Amino acid sequence: MIYRRVALIGLGLIASSMAHAMRAGGLAGEIVGTAKSAETRATAKALFCDRVTDTAAEAVQGADLVVLCVPVGAMAALAEEIGPHLAPGATVTDVGSVKQAVIAAVAPHIPADVHFIPGHPLAGTEHSGPKAGFASLFQNRWWLLTPPDDADPAAVARLRSLLEAMGANVDTMDAPHHDLVLAVTSHTPHLIAYTMVGVADDLRRVTDSEVIRYSAAGFRDFTRIAASDPTMWRDVFLTNKDATLDILGRFTEELFALQRAIRLGDGDHLHAYFTRTRAIRRGIIEAGQDTDAPDFGRVMAPVKGG
Ligand code: NAP
Repeated sequence: MIYRRVALIGLGLIASSMAHAMRAGGLAGEIVGTAKSAETRATAKALFCDRVTDTAAEAVQGADLVVLCVPVGAMAALAEEIGPHLAPGATVTDVGSVKQAVIAAVAPHIPADVHFIPGHPLAGTEHSGPKAGFASLFQNRWWLLTPPDDADPAAVARLRSLLEAMGANVDTMDAPHHDLVLAVTSHTPHLIAYTMVGVADDLRRVTDSEVIRYSAAGFRDFTRIAASDPTMWRDVFLTNKDATLDILGRFTEELFALQRAIRLGDGDHLHAYFTRTRAIRRGIIEAGQDTDAPDFGRVMAPVKGG
């Protein structure tokens, strides 16, 4: 057991996956949870929480680890609510996809005798809610921590040992760097996927049934990303504004360069560009972050009437 009592605030995909992983590994003495709706709390109680409470203030009492697992936009009000109820010596962490905005929202409400160690698991699916979680979600996935310079090394080490016991690889970096890295690897790609799916939806010359029927040509992978939770992603773009706009600016320039190459019939430019990008995929596979199997290892049911 690494923590005696863990309080999970918000009981969706990430919190439920943490609870399943902690239970599987015997990592927490007691798992207490709370969420906005009574329905989510009841589901969590049935599936993975030892105890649920109606309010976050009650949930954090006596907890030696508190994990904020709510959308980024809900963090400030939550931190204000729990601040006076945190136990001295406890650790507070979060799983928000953006770090600078969460730190600005949460840190002012954390008492001096409580450790605040912000975090972000680079793991997820397009599903949300308390039934979406599973114990292996964090297996071999990165979990980034952005502790302040004066963070207590023992508190950081203890949190790290929990995350590693759940299967994650842990790294630390500063919050502005985190937000830039994630703008490149996650936030902007999501925006592009949302846009592409929106464009297909708007294109009346191609029927909806054609878009769906022939989606395996590439579009399907955009739709998986574009099915991600609207609240979570709204908050990501509202709070990681500068880094996302920076990367989107670069993206737009590259897109115009490719558009120009297509217009001018500049095959050398296109070929060189696609050769460079193909190497990135190899790097991801070699790092063990995706499968080498064709089409992500999908096993497809035969197409009816196709
Ligand atoms: P989720 O499945 O949509 O769950 C969010 C949970 O937060 C729900 O249980 C919701 O309660 C609860 N909640 C919302 N506002 C609340 C409030 N004011 N007080 C108490 N509970 C509240 O979300 P998720 O995917 O687990 O994401 C949670 C966090 O993890 C977000 O900050 C997100 O940026 C981050 N994250 C997500 C992913 C991903 O791929 N999904 C990956 C890494 C990090 P109800 O169910 O009652 O509405």
